[in-house]
Amino acid sequence: MRVQSRRVLLSRIDVLRLAPEGACVAAIGVDRFTRVRGAIGYDLAERLIASLAARAGDLVGVDNIARLAPDSLGVVFQPFDQAERSIHSVLSDLAIALEQPVDVAGVPISVHVSIGYALSTTLQPAQDQLQHAEIALDQSREQRARVVRFSAEDYGDPMRRILLMRDLRGGIDRGELRLHYQLQVDTRTGAVTGAEALVRWRHPQHGSVPPDEFIPMAEETGEIRELTDWVLDQAIMDSIVLAEAGWPIRIGVNLSGRLISDDEFADLTLERLARAQGRLTFEITETSIIHDQDRALANMKAFAEAGARIAIDDYGSGLSSLAYIQQFPAHELKIDRQFISRLTQSHKDPLLVRSSIELAHALEFDVVAEGVEDAGSLALLRMMGCDQVQGYFIGRPMPLGELFAYLDRGAGGEALSTPLRIGAIWSD
Ligand code: C2E
Ligand code: CA
Ligand code: CA
Repeated sequence: MRVQSRRVLLSRIDVLRLAPEGACVAAIGVDRFTRVRGAIGYDLAERLIASLAARAGDLVGVDNIARLAPDSLGVVFQPFDQAERSIHSVLSDLAIALEQPVDVAGVPISVHVSIGYALSTTLQPAQDQLQHAEIALDQSREQRARVVRFSAEDYGDPMRRILLMRDLRGGIDRGELRLHYQLQVDTRTGAVTGAEALVRWRHPQHGSVPPDEFIPMAEETGEIRELTDWVLDQAIMDSIVLAEAGWPIRIGVNLSGRLISDDEFADLTLERLARAQGRLTFEITETSIIHDQDRALANMKAFAEAGARIAIDDYGSGLSSLAYIQQFPAHELKIDRQFISRLTQSHKDPLLVRSSIELAHALEFDVVAEGVEDAGSLALLRMMGCDQVQGYFIGRPMPLGELFAYLDRGAGGEALSTPLRIGAIWSD
């Protein structure tokens, strides 16, 4: 079968998108295609792609398929029904059909495919729609989800990201970063046990940029190393100031996975730990340890031996089980805020949280719940035996100066809304 070029596909998209129901453009990728090609050779691999194109042609018509890259095809079709669910299921069915064995020179070969798609919007050129489908294909491969719809929200504004990245390194040097601290308290007594350091960036033009926006980028570009060095130094200085003022609390610092298996970073961090007087906690997500796991585990162990407490962050948001986490040299488990903030509204979450707490205790982890937003959740967590809590209900992340004022007022028991609220709960 003859497969069209990208240019022809673009003109087909232009025609089909004029229909009232618009058009759906999908990019279909053959996973690990270079491996397949290495195994069966170039010619047969081309025949394989042609057979896949013919199968897809049964669904969308042969004129509406193009080769986008050696390992991907683009298709356009009019959704029979605008319901999102039905488009998604049509493409899932297509993926299943494409994954049935293909007869190539008498040998049945089956491949895995990933699909990304984008729906047309009125003012958007065909070129953009096709590009969006290809971006969604990348996302579907990354997330290992079979079919992914392009989401402008998830994709964000790439130009802004690039400009921000360009500015981050200079921003660190110019002192544009700050740390805010969010309190962690003992669930039984209400005593402050620690505070998590959360980085803030005030950009001279863009204003305050949330960490969720620049941390993932910094992890990609490698700036995370500079950023974390800065955070660690600042957090250690602040913890010394706090201790001298009579608040020897622990400071939690988030460590990105990539750094934990970086031996150079680990060596410098061990030197820093010598200054931290055993008051640092490293928050590490379970999913971040997947790369170079042996090295990561060895470094975590060295950090723990040098006096750091190790917390498994965002527990429950990944796929790993406590049985897997058990091998980590960790002291505490932070249950992800998505389970905690819904605690009083959902029927399932309380069971999940309760059993996580019990299992974590059986494995000798302390349990911290993050994202505690209301008195009901706090009361429930207390009943479940959760050791520590953190969240907007106890306090928002705040600059060091405010943290001081807060601690001092809390200790003095003055009539302040939040400590009083906490006090009322802890005194019953
Ligand atoms: P995280 O480690 O899970 O940090 C907790 C986040 O939850 C913080 O968002 C905090 O403000 C927010 N939060 C706290 N209490 C509540 C609550 O009651 N309700 C809700 N809805 N949210 C609450 P933030 O400060 O925007 O940080 C986002 C993420 O950025 C962090 O998630 C962490 O993954 C990353 N991050 C922040 N600072 C650093 C850093 O210095 N290094 C690294 N590697 N990552 C950092
Ligand atoms: Ca954290
Ligand atoms: Ca977290």
